[in-house]
Order: sequence, then C-alpha cells, then structure tokens
Amino acid sequence: MKAIAINGTSNSGKTTVCEVIIKGLRERGYTVGSVKEIHSPDFALDPDLGEDTGRHRNSGSQLVTARAFYETDVLYQEKLSIDEILKHYDHDFVILEGVTDCNCPRILTAHNEDEVKERMDERVVAVSGVLANTDPPEVLGFPVFHALKNPKGLVDFVEERAFEPLPSFDSDCCSLCGYSCRELSGRIARQKARRDDCVLDTQMVELVIDGVAIPMVPFVQRILKNAVLGVAKELDGYKHSKIEVRLKI
Ligand code: SF4
Repeated sequence: MKAIAINGTSNSGKTTVCEVIIKGLRERGYTVGSVKEIHSPDFALDPDLGEDTGRHRNSGSQLVTARAFYETDVLYQEKLSIDEILKHYDHDFVILEGVTDCNCPRILTAHNEDEVKERMDERVVAVSGVLANTDPPEVLGFPVFHALKNPKGLVDFVEERAFEPLPSFDSDCCSLCGYSCRELSGRIARQKARRDDCVLDTQMVELVIDGVAIPMVPFVQRILKNAVLGVAKELDGYKHSKIEVRLKI
C-alpha cells in the first residue's frame, strides 16, 4: 500500500487535489482509500448523545459501529495514530488529506510561496493548489501541478513517487538505516534512498495479528525469535527452517 499526503492551509485546494488524484488513480484501475484529517476539536459524526449511536458511546462502548444499507461507520472513541488507521487499509494507494504525521511523501497546497516555506519539511516533493493558478514552473525547486489543468501530470507523479509509509519508531528503538524513520522517509521522497533501505523490509520474524502484519524493531524480533527457537529446539523432529506459530486467544 502506497501513500501520499496532501497538506496545506485552509482553502488552498487540498480537497480538489485529493479528488483529482483519487479519480485519476481509480480510472487507472487501482484500489484507492483516503483519510481526511479534521482540524476541529468539536467534530464528531454523531455529536448528539440523544441519538442511538451516541447513547451506545455514552454507555461506555469503546467501539461503536453504525451499519446502514449503503454505509458502515466504525466509531472509535479516541484519536488513532496514523499507523493504526492505515492498518485498516488494504488498497493500492491511500491519499491522506491534512495528515502531517505519516512518514510518506507530501504535496503542499498553498496560496503563495510564503505558505510553502512555512510548511516545508524533508518529505515535501511537490506543490499544488491555488498557487498553481499563476502557472509557475516550480516553487523553491519543487514541481508545481495545477490539478485541474494537468490532472494527468499530477496522477503520473503520485503513481511514481508515492511509497509504502515507513513506521514511526523512536530513534532509541531503531536507527539501523542510519536515520530516524522520518529522515529516511524524507530521503526516499527526495529519491536519495530506497524504500527497502528500511531493515524492517528484510525482517526474519513476522508477527501477524488478525491478518495484519505488526512491524517490530530488530530488538523485539530477536527476543521473539530466541523465545520461539528456545522452545522449538527442545522438540522431537526440530530442524532449522521456516517456523510458524499460531495462537488462538
Ligand atoms: S530502519 Fe526502518 S524502522 Fe529503523 S529507523 Fe530506519 S526507517 Fe525506521
């Protein structure tokens, strides 16, 4: 699953850029999901505790699902991390509107160059939004895409530059690539490194919970590997090969 984030100020064209990318990728046959960050502390799909789902929540249910004929809404009673959210996606691409804490490339939308400078970081790869109306060929050295005039160019760019997000481990837990996760994501975004420079891609131990692979830093992989090998070696018929352990809890 590849991801790209679209970030920018209010009314700078984020949603239009997302719409064009989603539509373009779908037309090319990809499966596409999206995440919309809501920057309002008061937002809730069912804020009225008098409604039925609100009454479930008010009674203490920590995960409420509203199932209707054409839509299913799963309502967590907390703000999930982007890593947690993305575990629910199994799409070719996920478009992240307003999400800033994902270790993936970012396209900035802006009204002017100052807004681009304010939001610049190592993961930015392109500029779009209202600023593109004046047709600058580039801003601060980054390509500028007018989403409505050049949707093909924008979608081509996303298709080529989006990548599977890196995890968000503390540098204390892992720095085996020589960088923090965010620094490496910036280097991949700027084509100075490759996605498989993250050692987790070559991990020898996989932990899958309910069908979702859980990333583990090498230290935790070693603990798990040694624990399982310590038991397996004592068993008749043990030979060193691929070992699978399944727990039913
Ligand atoms: S190797 Fe992967 S998990 Fe470790 S710091 Fe680098 S990007 Fe993060």
